[in-house]
Amino acid sequence: MKFDVIIVGGGHAGAEAAAAAARLGAKTALLTSNLDTISQMSCNPAIGGVAKGQIVREVDALGGLMGEIIDATGIQFRMLNRSKGPAMHGPRAQADKKAYQFAMKERLENLENLELHQELVEELLVEQRPDGKPFVTGVKTMLGEIYEAPRVVLTTGTFLRGILHYGPNQFPGGRAGDMPANKLSQTLERAGIRLARFKTGTPARLNGRTIDYSNLSPHVGDEDPVPFSFLHETLQVEQIPCWITRTNAKVHQIIRENLHRAPMYSGQINSTGPRYCPSIETKIVRFSDKESHQLYLEPEGRHTLEVYVNGLSTSLPCDVQREMIRNIEGLENAQIMRYAYAIEYDFAPPEQLHPSLETKAIEGLFFAGQINGTTGYEEAAGQGLLAAANAVRSLNGQDPLILGREEAYLGVMVDDLVTKGVDEPYRMFTSRAEHRLRLRGDNADRRLTEIGWNAGLVDAERWKIFREKMDAIEQLAAFLRESRVRLPAGGTISAEEYLRRPEVEWSEIAERFPQVKEFSLRVTEQVCWDIKYSGYLSRQDASVERARKLQKIRIPDDFDYFAINQLRMEAKEQLSRIRPQTIDQASRIRGITPADLAVLVLVLRKH
Ligand SMILES: Cc1cc2nc3c(=O)[nH]c(=O)nc-3n(C[C@H](O)[C@H](O)[C@H](O)COP(=O)(O)OP(=O)(O)OC[C@H]3O[C@@H](n4cnc5c(N)ncnc54)[C@H](O)[C@@H]3O)c2cc1C
Repeated sequence: MKFDVIIVGGGHAGAEAAAAAARLGAKTALLTSNLDTISQMSCNPAIGGVAKGQIVREVDALGGLMGEIIDATGIQFRMLNRSKGPAMHGPRAQADKKAYQFAMKERLENLENLELHQELVEELLVEQRPDGKPFVTGVKTMLGEIYEAPRVVLTTGTFLRGILHYGPNQFPGGRAGDMPANKLSQTLERAGIRLARFKTGTPARLNGRTIDYSNLSPHVGDEDPVPFSFLHETLQVEQIPCWITRTNAKVHQIIRENLHRAPMYSGQINSTGPRYCPSIETKIVRFSDKESHQLYLEPEGRHTLEVYVNGLSTSLPCDVQREMIRNIEGLENAQIMRYAYAIEYDFAPPEQLHPSLETKAIEGLFFAGQINGTTGYEEAAGQGLLAAANAVRSLNGQDPLILGREEAYLGVMVDDLVTKGVDEPYRMFTSRAEHRLRLRGDNADRRLTEIGWNAGLVDAERWKIFREKMDAIEQLAAFLRESRVRLPAGGTISAEEYLRRPEVEWSEIAERFPQVKEFSLRVTEQVCWDIKYSGYLSRQDASVERARKLQKIRIPDDFDYFAINQLRMEAKEQLSRIRPQTIDQASRIRGITPADLAVLVLVLRKH
């Protein structure tokens, strides 16, 4: 029972962590309370989205599994924001929830160096060096088993002292159907780790057989689905539609009349939840003038009729849930298979971590995922990969793998977590990244695969595919530099310069130079966007630099932040609450990003 690295928890962070440690050659044990729930999607059956999809691509570029597994098990694929520029494109897929879990489990079972054990970890084993510095030596489980390792990565999700709320009914649980991890919280506190509480919620699941789809609009996948993984060129998948319905005045009235029974409003829940993913009762209170809210009915898989009601997260009592559902178009006769609920859980405020995700308090102990105050499968997966990589690197005496904010969303996330901490569950948004034109989903391999290869995270097959793609990009770019386009007014310019013109589309280049059609879409889009956005990219760098220099500008006391459209709502609220005197002061307010500061500087300059 002696290992190099122990991963505690087999959720999205734990699965990537276990795979990364094993890929790096460390003797690894993944201990998780239920092997049948590896990578379970506790909330919606979907992977990706804007900014989150970019993270999945980054995890994939570093040799992680999430992209490959969702490509293999997705039931609907959409590229969000396709009409916007490539920095805003967000790949998203509906998952077959169970197929995803079992595909991930099978991948992990097949990994050399990795053992999987169904165990609930209850205790951290910690010793002290002669200078008093504590260090981890392993864990003890509920069965009394001891697993020894000099590196332990905790990825326990929502399970630490989890409490589920269904209206006034509350009971301990890691999520519906799972027991909580209570004792582990106690040993963490004894070891000097500070814990705090967050909450989150999930909607009801319905039996699709009892939904009347006849008047609902379908929400279908892309005709040309784009894979997440850089290992896959195309996707052959039979897609399943989602459906759209809406809440209405009657449903809102039911919610208002029962607000006093909602744990969020009755005082039963005091912890903070994800503001951008509010419960339906919060939406009704916060946006009281809105007459209806859109709901997406999302199938949970190919071999189940269960349907997830996206947008109707609640902790109202079960009888109120039935009443709400009965009054929604298409759901009049729908049977609730699982009731919606909220969960409160412990997390460890992440300013207690080094940028390697190792805890400052206990040497050799790393945290990843929801335990760090984040929310989301993708955010968890990225942290799992980095934490495990750094656990192994520290064993080998290597410097930690720390990605820059200009290199990856993963770099932005870790930097935000460890330098600013969190005051609400942290999810990734494109607006958190000041270099977001660089941090695109399509170029994640160009940003990260070489880093992953040098770190030993990327295998030979991925490296070969990447090298071939890079060679093709160079060939195509050289071809465009050397080829000439005759202009109607006379004279010629290079195809590269011609393509840089805003009105010139790639299709015109392909018509003039049919040779370029030999290159794959993944190659042509890289070359095309490099050329099209070269001006913006250099301007973006310059503007971030300028923002840094101008941080000392004063802000008038009565400044109206809500009048600045380009500012995020979170920024408007925080700045109005604190009212900083200078840009410099504003930069230190939690939740204010460099991108917010750049907007503020621009507006103040106009003043
Ligand atoms: C009710 C609910 C609603 C949610 N809603 C949203 C949402 O709207 N949006 C969103 O982005 N995210 C939501 N989430 C959060 C999302 O599920 C997590 O962000 C994500 O799963 C985090 O991944 P993780 O790997 O950190 O933890 P998890 O996926 O929670 O995995 C934790 C794993 O650790 C195991 N484990 C825990 N303790 C121990 C122990 N002591 N010993 C052994 N094994 C242990 C568990 O069995 C589990 O496998 C919700 C979660 C819940 C429960």
